[in-house]
Amino acid sequence: MEVLSNVSLSSENDKWYWFDDNQNGFSVKSVKKSLIVERGTSHPPNFIWCKWVPIKCNIMAWRVNLDRFPTRVNLRRRNVDIPSVMCHLCGDYEEMMDHLFTACSVALRVWSVFSAWCNVPPLFFFEFKDILESHKLIKSGKKAEKIIYGLVIIVCWCIWKGRNDTVFNQRKCSPGDIIGRLKSRGYV
Ligand SMILES: [Zn+2]
Repeated sequence: MEVLSNVSLSSENDKWYWFDDNQNGFSVKSVKKSLIVERGTSHPPNFIWCKWVPIKCNIMAWRVNLDRFPTRVNLRRRNVDIPSVMCHLCGDYEEMMDHLFTACSVALRVWSVFSAWCNVPPLFFFEFKDILESHKLIKSGKKAEKIIYGLVIIVCWCIWKGRNDTVFNQRKCSPGDIIGRLKSRGYV
């Protein structure tokens, strides 16, 4: 009786609706919205796909954003037996995602050259998510924002490729090599 006391009957047709959104009916959009609200702030921000850069670069940035990328510290966390977790580019710190792309001395130099090349104010990042939001600081219109957003994703790809060159091919990789790869479209 208690359950039924809340039920009201009407002559309208029956319909489904999501409990958070009884205006728009049962839509995938409203379910997604409510799931995003429920997961709180502990989850990384949603990755926005950049249509003009290669898919492989997008997938890499998406995985890094979720911290599901095979940096050495992440490999150790998965119990992979590796001789060292130190960063191969600088050798000074453990190779974590934030270090590799934002704090590593090689990455710092790359971002410095990159911002001069793009004629934007110097870019400094504390976390990987700052890289994905850097285009919002460029006040030169939507088109410029899209270009910078794509370029920073490609820079991350080039840093990762440079890192792989040092790890797997024992090739020394300088900030100039990484920027060179970017400018010569060596990432494609
Ligand atoms: Zn480093």
